[in-house]
Amino acid sequence: MTHGMSPSEGGATAPRIGMLGGTFDPVHLGHLRSAVELHEHLALDRLHMIPAPQPPLRGCPQVAAHERLALLEAGIGDTPGLVADGRELKRAGPSYSADTLAELRDEYGADARLVMVLGEDAFSRLADWHAPERLFELAHIVVIARPGYCAGHSAPLQELIGEREVADASALMQRPHGRLLRVTLSSRMAISATDIRRRLQQGESVRYLLPAAVEQVAVARQLYQTHGHPPEQCQADE
Ligand code: ATP
Repeated sequence: MTHGMSPSEGGATAPRIGMLGGTFDPVHLGHLRSAVELHEHLALDRLHMIPAPQPPLRGCPQVAAHERLALLEAGIGDTPGLVADGRELKRAGPSYSADTLAELRDEYGADARLVMVLGEDAFSRLADWHAPERLFELAHIVVIARPGYCAGHSAPLQELIGEREVADASALMQRPHGRLLRVTLSSRMAISATDIRRRLQQGESVRYLLPAAVEQVAVARQLYQTHGHPPEQCQADE
């Protein structure tokens, strides 16, 4: 740890940038409301919402990446500070968050406060991700409490967390990367994409689980009416 302070000590003028990656299959109000509240809570300049074409640790998404990006764009609409970011669709191979964070770090500079946002369920598996230590070299991690998921941690995850946890957003923003913050947002929602896909397949209502614009696009393009495409098409999206 250095004791000499950089010119932007405390980071008052440094950009504050968030990244919320996911499958977004489809995007729903649990994602979007969390994004809006985090944008406010952390005083972010921008929150990049980034769909993964090929999430490394889960099965093939039901809907092609460009369709999921279109749903995300429809869901965000003109929401200030949120950006539907299709950068991972341009990369070949698995979608590693470390690579995405490295790109954002290059774009925003060494002083930027870069924050990777995860729900508790995703965070519980962080030690299995590609290059997990590198994530903290590039960004802070902010974990959102999610109804229905408890916070049990494996020994490797506990080791990764070490002494990184801080109590609040201002402690987080004193440095460009390397710390962990847990937040419980006021309107946490027990909404999951799995439940939405099941409902759409069974012809049940999804009203008020996702933005009306997303529902309209999903219905118009008949995106979730079957049980997904076969795994061999998973990589043949673009
Ligand atoms: P699925 O049910 O298909 O697993 P999901 O609803 O968990 O999907 P993802 O696209 O996998 O959605 O999630 C992207 C990120 O958003 C993850 O970090 C996840 O933990 C978080 N997230 C998803 N839903 C919520 C929610 N309701 N509240 C808070 N965080 C959420």
